[in-house]
Amino acid sequence: MRTASLLAATAIALAAAPLAAQSPMFDTARLSQHVQTLGSDAFEGRAPNTRAETKTVNYLIDQFKAAGLQPGGALVNGQRGWTHPVPLLKSDWAAAPQLALDLNGQPVQLTQGTEIAARTPTNGEKGLNLNNVPLVFVGYGVKAPERGWDDFKGQDMRGKIMVVLVNDPDFEAKGEPLEGDFGGKAMTYYGRWTYKYEEGARQGAAGVLVIHETEPASYGWATVKNSNTNTMFDIVRANPGAEHPALEGWIQRDLASRIFAASGMNFEAMKAAARKKDFQPVALKARLTARGTANTQVITSQNVLGILPGTTRPDETVMYTAHWDHLGIGQPDANGDRIYNGALDNGSGLSHLIEQGRAFAREPRTQRSVVFLAVTAEEKGLLGSEYYAANPLYPIGKTVGVLNTDSMGVFGPAKDFSISGTAKLGLLDLLIAEGKRMGRSFTPDRHPESGGFYRSDHFSFAKVGVPALSFGSGLDLIDGGVARGEAIAKEYTAKRYHQPDDEWSPDWRFDGIAADAILLHAVGRDLANGNAWPNWSQDSEFRATRDRTAGERGSSQEPAAKPGERG
Ligand SMILES: [Zn+2]
Repeated sequence: MRTASLLAATAIALAAAPLAAQSPMFDTARLSQHVQTLGSDAFEGRAPNTRAETKTVNYLIDQFKAAGLQPGGALVNGQRGWTHPVPLLKSDWAAAPQLALDLNGQPVQLTQGTEIAARTPTNGEKGLNLNNVPLVFVGYGVKAPERGWDDFKGQDMRGKIMVVLVNDPDFEAKGEPLEGDFGGKAMTYYGRWTYKYEEGARQGAAGVLVIHETEPASYGWATVKNSNTNTMFDIVRANPGAEHPALEGWIQRDLASRIFAASGMNFEAMKAAARKKDFQPVALKARLTARGTANTQVITSQNVLGILPGTTRPDETVMYTAHWDHLGIGQPDANGDRIYNGALDNGSGLSHLIEQGRAFAREPRTQRSVVFLAVTAEEKGLLGSEYYAANPLYPIGKTVGVLNTDSMGVFGPAKDFSISGTAKLGLLDLLIAEGKRMGRSFTPDRHPESGGFYRSDHFSFAKVGVPALSFGSGLDLIDGGVARGEAIAKEYTAKRYHQPDDEWSPDWRFDGIAADAILLHAVGRDLANGNAWPNWSQDSEFRATRDRTAGERGSSQEPAAKPGERG
């Protein structure tokens, strides 16, 4: 099977040699093999700064080489290497932190990972030492002047722990009009837990505890526990206390209900109050004592980069990206499995990245460069991509666009495709147009309330203005339609996402990824062989940042090429 399809691919590549626009074949056996290998127990869940990182980085370099890419990383003795070192602050609990509440005079011991998940400090301190710190409910914890919204109403948060709801005030919006101050169900950045912690630091709060609820968080407590009780990382910052309060964590909804009840309040009623603009912060009859020692150090992880230099404008780059890291070895699941394999998340995206590299390498070089970037520490908060965006190896202003893949569909081809979250940009218009030519339709994110736009590496590029999106495999499966697609997605989120069961399975199909790869190839190739600079829409929050680098793109500012104008 494998030999046969390799031969078929070779035959087609040879036949197509004079035709630059010929779509390459993507070999499903190769796509499957990468996912199986990267998702195997031997790769130990690919945690940054472990021996599994070395193994993963070496695998990627070997595969990039074999695919025909050139080293695209940082300069080593005047020559490009394969990697770009990423210095990260690493913080571990020396032992499980001691956490206790005084609940209206009653002592309540809390167990790390059970009722509460307290992250190890990344504020530059060596531990956590909070004594009887009062809790204040601040609704959604949002300060959004452009929307005329302020949950704090001028109250002083210093020396207090903010208790906040996850998502944004429109999540629970029902009836008409559906759209409130936060764009209806689609999550704004104000809904992300990263925002809540950042706002807590700006407010000078001692801590921020996010109340977990499965629907507005879009994942269960298992995911919260697994992502927040293990090693924490951040990019190295000059003033980490300006970005991180001392305590960052989550509490279970049941514990929140108890705290509100002990304070003479009803959780649901307070939640309803928090959806209103006139909401006022409420002091809770609860105080938290939290103590723990953190082992902190600065470590170096690696982004991995391959490149196919452009023939005429090599400093202009089209980028394909995928994160290589996953959660590593952690708390055992019910079966005692401790390896968080991350086969789908993001072995599948890496597999696409490698094979996309091979497809481009087989074809004649494009006018612009094509860069293949595997980033580290996505699961730690998009850190490898944030570091790249802050320390780019290729000019950000001349980065044409970023096509990110993070978890692709392994249950067969779909009639449609999507992107993570909601955004308006020329790059998406190109993707939609190209999809249409291939008989595939675009379906907007079916769950924009889960904040997908802020949850993968393209967001790090968007923040510095680069048109960027995370491709989403479709759910309208040729075999089984939306019903089967949605059922599979739901099962994955509940039982496998960020859990030890995200493992390669012999029943996974790779013809869907192959079809997605053909689509993503066409978009990248058009951009790499043209001189279009697709931009964000006029009303996008990223447009102004992009326009600030317009001068770098010279006079060749043109609207996005229309299908049919391709070289
Ligand atoms: Zn991922």
